[in-house]
Amino acid sequence: MEITPLHNWISGKIGVTANTLNREVLESYQLGKLRQTVELARSRSIFYRRAPAGPASFAVSSLADLQRLPFTTPEDIRQNPLHFLCVSQDQVNRVVTLQSSGTTGEPKRLYFTGEDQELTVDFFHIGMSTLVSPGDTVLILLPGEVPGSVGDLLVKGLQRMGVRGIPYGLVRDPAHTLQVMAEERVNSLVGIPTQVLSLARHRGEGEKQLPLPLKSVLLSTDYVPRAIVRELERAWGCRVYNHYGMTEMGLGGGVECQALAGYHLREADLYFEIIDPATGEPLPEGEEGEIVFTTLTRRGMPILRYRTGDKARFIPDPCPCGTLLKRMDRVKSRVTGSIQVAGGVLTLAELDEALFPLDSLLNFSASITCENGIDVLHINARPAQGAGRVTTEMILTALETIPLLKSAQMQGKMKVAPLIQVQDDNSRVNAAKRVLIDLRKPEGTR
Ligand SMILES: [Zn+2]
Repeated sequence: MEITPLHNWISGKIGVTANTLNREVLESYQLGKLRQTVELARSRSIFYRRAPAGPASFAVSSLADLQRLPFTTPEDIRQNPLHFLCVSQDQVNRVVTLQSSGTTGEPKRLYFTGEDQELTVDFFHIGMSTLVSPGDTVLILLPGEVPGSVGDLLVKGLQRMGVRGIPYGLVRDPAHTLQVMAEERVNSLVGIPTQVLSLARHRGEGEKQLPLPLKSVLLSTDYVPRAIVRELERAWGCRVYNHYGMTEMGLGGGVECQALAGYHLREADLYFEIIDPATGEPLPEGEEGEIVFTTLTRRGMPILRYRTGDKARFIPDPCPCGTLLKRMDRVKSRVTGSIQVAGGVLTLAELDEALFPLDSLLNFSASITCENGIDVLHINARPAQGAGRVTTEMILTALETIPLLKSAQMQGKMKVAPLIQVQDDNSRVNAAKRVLIDLRKPEGTR
């Protein structure tokens, strides 16, 4: 097994050889970058200059001192994104507007300079070298039309290693995407789990599944259902890697190595913490909590201690690939992604693992209502066209594998209401984060 390419890359960025990289050297580099970032934010950003604790709280003489700094929340950025800007507006190369998943929220804006974007391209170049090699062709099933968009930066990163990246965009018609894959001799895909699943499960009229010589797939989103990974491996016989990132991180956060056992992180550009979401205190290594990150090298809009809302843990054991870079376990849920039902906690991840093994299921949405004093779980399932059938009985049976749902139903504390929703057209593609919606609360929060 090859060591993650991030190891050599980060060594180079720090200015040491791969053999001499150790945690001490890395952390001392991180501290230096952190101090520069804090100084930049404190002196140039209106938001950090006005932080309630005052500039004195921004004295950082060790990485542990970072814990004294206040958190930055998505709401902070949403309220006044320009207050985070540390460069003049003419130095901003790219503005990303993220629509709020809520009904009333303002969109969130993020600003990147050319240098900031270069950091992302560089990470994409190195990170992708885990799964593709010169001469390969990658179809990118992510937005890519706009300069500086994720697809555009990925194409640039791949070019640097002699790999052809084709920015395709989201899958709206799986048959068309599969045709492009065959014509362009695509042997690797990057996409969102349910979108890539729609390709693996597509069956045209009287068609068998297209034989595709795929070598690798990279799935990128907050949570990658294991059931989808297994299905892609089975359908295509390829390796399925996970990437973790969000726009706020500069798109890239971390990527799995060939061990496929947790992401290695961009530790020269980002500093990660795992905190207790209730108290905000850092958690001991290995415990699961909320992911918080601080940018170390961004100039346009540095962000200190950003609360991602995603939950994961650091894996304390060394990675089989041999690096000393940290490993973060796969993100399993959102802080707000679990819902109290019938005396227990239900997560979308549990529903994903129970339902995605169903052969012809493409996607589903889930919500909870309260009817006559009983919680009702609504599952709105979308089957693959022309494939076998998904029935409400199959959904009910699959959900019985979740102990909480089984016992709550038996005790009459809860009901499950599945609905099969056949869509005639594939134009309604939603790439937003999937959430378990709680409709029992008046404001309909998730
Ligand atoms: Zn590794």
